[in-house]
Amino acid sequence: MTKKKLLLLPGDGIGPEVMAEVERVLAWLNESGRAQFEYETDLVGGCAYDAHGEAISDAAMDKAHAADAVILGAVGGPKWANVPYAQRPEAGLLRLRKDMKLFANLRPAICYPALTEASSLKREVVEGLDLMIVRELTGGVYFGEPKEIVTLENGERRAVDSQLYYEHEIERIARVAFDLARARGKRLASVEKHNVMRTGVLWKSVVTRVHEDYKDIELTHVLADNCAMQLVKWPKQFDTIVTDNLFGDVLSDLAAMSTGSLGMLPSASLGAKDANGRRPALYEPVHGSAPDIAGKGVANPIATIGSLGMALRYSFDLGKEADLLDAAIAGVLAKGLRTPDIMQDGKTKIGTAEMGEAIVGELKRLSA
Ligand code: NAD
Repeated sequence: MTKKKLLLLPGDGIGPEVMAEVERVLAWLNESGRAQFEYETDLVGGCAYDAHGEAISDAAMDKAHAADAVILGAVGGPKWANVPYAQRPEAGLLRLRKDMKLFANLRPAICYPALTEASSLKREVVEGLDLMIVRELTGGVYFGEPKEIVTLENGERRAVDSQLYYEHEIERIARVAFDLARARGKRLASVEKHNVMRTGVLWKSVVTRVHEDYKDIELTHVLADNCAMQLVKWPKQFDTIVTDNLFGDVLSDLAAMSTGSLGMLPSASLGAKDANGRRPALYEPVHGSAPDIAGKGVANPIATIGSLGMALRYSFDLGKEADLLDAAIAGVLAKGLRTPDIMQDGKTKIGTAEMGEAIVGELKRLSA
């Protein structure tokens, strides 16, 4: 079995605590013979600034490029509130995304049966939810030029951000989304606002053209404002959604919250495949470094362990192992084990390490 190379970047705050539980799962995967991972760790964020004066070193970037996938914990915290802008902890994350050319952000929203009550939506609306939002990550209004605030002759200030998309940017994200939809429920909703935005018109026409290569997938076009309404009304009508950077930012957070807790949400950011079929990939929880609970051993590691699960599925073609890990997480929750962020009446409160141990215990049980 060829060894798969991972780079682990635990980062700041609760990052190292939740990453320790990823290492626990990796150790089990290796011991059980289901996969062979070798991994090294390095610094990113505030801890990297403390050590090297920058949020990620060139040496760590080299390791990221050499790895088959990178798993990141979280960056940031009040300690680094006053460091220079270019060296702020988030700059490490942005450099990883930029230098690895990660243009596709995958944000699943899955509602575990045991946690349906944690959602602010009604049980029947979220029970069994399994939705994937694919967000374009490197184009659109966050990067388009001009992007400026100018003072006019009369002294009034005017701000402009530019929503800009090239055909190739839309085509490559559409292909990622169609491929994902093909491996999921074979339904893709493309979300834009072609009724009022020229980028929406181009988006719709390019996605429609790419659909010619994916005739087995049911494609619908949904206006972004309607999509927001539908996500709250009946999110289960969607299987896979593809959308631009801005709408994706908002809609993925909206969908995520229907699942209840930040501590449960993984994500993936993918680049383009090279000639050998190798795709740069970064996996990370959606949550931040949670300085309010850092060092207390109470952080929920499920989002970061779930990020490893996404790496198994999307970087290593280990779909069976990813399914097993999902089942182990669901099993632990069904047994009533909860970290404090998802605690409910009558359940058993446990810490970060106990949650990791319980998930590995469930992996062993399910695979025996
Ligand atoms: P946060 O996600 O760190 O925390 C928000 C709330 O959710 C806190 O109450 C926290 O305790 C809780 N929480 C988050 N993750 C949890 C987990 N795994 N288990 C249990 N509870 C959890 O967001 P914030 O407080 O706005 O930001 C804190 C720091 O993290 C800031 O410096 C911010 O810039 C940074 N941040 C980093 C990332 C990233 O690394 N990708 C993302 C968001 C925020």
